[in-house]
Amino acid sequence: MGLDQASRRAVNNPEAQNGRVANSGASIRRRATILHGKPLSRRAAIGLGAAGVAGLAGAASLFDFFAKWRDSEAPADIFKGDAPKGELWDLWRKRGWAKEASHYFKLGRNVQCKVCPNNCLLAPGDRSHCRNKVNDDGTLYTLVYANPCTFHVDPVEKKPLFHFLPGSRTFSLATSGCVFRCLNCQNWEISQKKPEETKDPRGEELRLRPPLPQGLTLDQIAKLSLFPADAVAVAEALGCLSLACTYSEPTAFYEYTFDICKAARERKLRNIVVSCGSIEERPARDLYQLVDAAHVDLKGFDDETYKTLNSGKLQPILNTLQTLKELGVWFEIINLVVPTYTDDLSMIRRMCGWIAKELGSDRPLHFSRFHPEHKLAQLPPTPVETLVKAREIARSEGLRYVYIGNVPGLENAETTFCPACRKPIIERDIFSVTSFNLDAGKCRFCGAKIAGVWS
Ligand code: SF4
Repeated sequence: MGLDQASRRAVNNPEAQNGRVANSGASIRRRATILHGKPLSRRAAIGLGAAGVAGLAGAASLFDFFAKWRDSEAPADIFKGDAPKGELWDLWRKRGWAKEASHYFKLGRNVQCKVCPNNCLLAPGDRSHCRNKVNDDGTLYTLVYANPCTFHVDPVEKKPLFHFLPGSRTFSLATSGCVFRCLNCQNWEISQKKPEETKDPRGEELRLRPPLPQGLTLDQIAKLSLFPADAVAVAEALGCLSLACTYSEPTAFYEYTFDICKAARERKLRNIVVSCGSIEERPARDLYQLVDAAHVDLKGFDDETYKTLNSGKLQPILNTLQTLKELGVWFEIINLVVPTYTDDLSMIRRMCGWIAKELGSDRPLHFSRFHPEHKLAQLPPTPVETLVKAREIARSEGLRYVYIGNVPGLENAETTFCPACRKPIIERDIFSVTSFNLDAGKCRFCGAKIAGVWS
């Protein structure tokens, strides 16, 4: 089995995923709250006393950091007493798969992660909401360092990014875990799993790096390590122009993503982050200054929808989008139109108006068709007319580049039109570019500049 096939199976086939889990336990039942089963209020958390601040990257003053912390969300539910122990924990560390986390507070022997608005507050032995972080005796560790559970070479159009190096290939990887609990998750086989359910550190160590093997078995993928510098070398060896942290949620494997982006920059390889955008401002700024392109999933445009559909909140995503704009990172937005959840056309109009006003008319927006999935298998796919109406609304609000995804055969659904002369300048068929009429980022017909990263 080639690298591509193996990794595709790992993402798409739950049986394959389960088949390579050697040490998975029963499904997680313990969703406890902090300290003796009682939810800990933000005030109570602060009352524990900050014994130290660990792993804070950047030069923000302690005062600023505490001010932001004070204003942030209450901690999310976590998995009480669920951190790996004994031989498994020892092997995990020996492999280099456990690394001290960044952006967290030490609160005596408790710790609080500040990477995403879940703000997990963990006592020793607890596991985080995203399943990927644990408190080991007062130190916060990520369990998903250098241990992707899947990787694949994708066309960049699959992210989807339509205005970033069109037609190029990107080496894409993911670990388990996610900061959200989307009812419609397409990658729940990895996003809603613990690292120990997708990786196995027992047996002979296997490091993936050039020269690349002809193929890998699923068992080998479960055991292999892929350190950031090796990931960059593999991407180069596979002829990719970029490396993408994607599929599950890069915020949930923040430290790995950060080091990959750093290593890619050092080798002048581009990097991509595909994210739900739910991340705190400080880690977002630290990470995205290293990122060449981002794809953010704006899942709806009100808090109630985010709460019900995704177990998240809207405002942190809007903040991230504005941070990306401020940092000058190229980014595109996707909106999955889920029947009865996010298909309200007045909400879509408000969302498009906000994007045009706050992020600019040149910001590409991809409407995507929902297909029955995960916990929403009972819903029908999004009617195509709804998507076409959404596109009309987006255009009427001033957005210049609006696409419809997941509807094969729909005419011009994925075509880029020149906003000046209206001629088709990039045509696509699923993930392939079938015509390209740009010269140095300008329309070949009228010379208008087209927003994006073209070389
Ligand atoms: S990144 Fe994970 S551990 Fe950190 S706050 Fe978010 S859910 Fe919790």
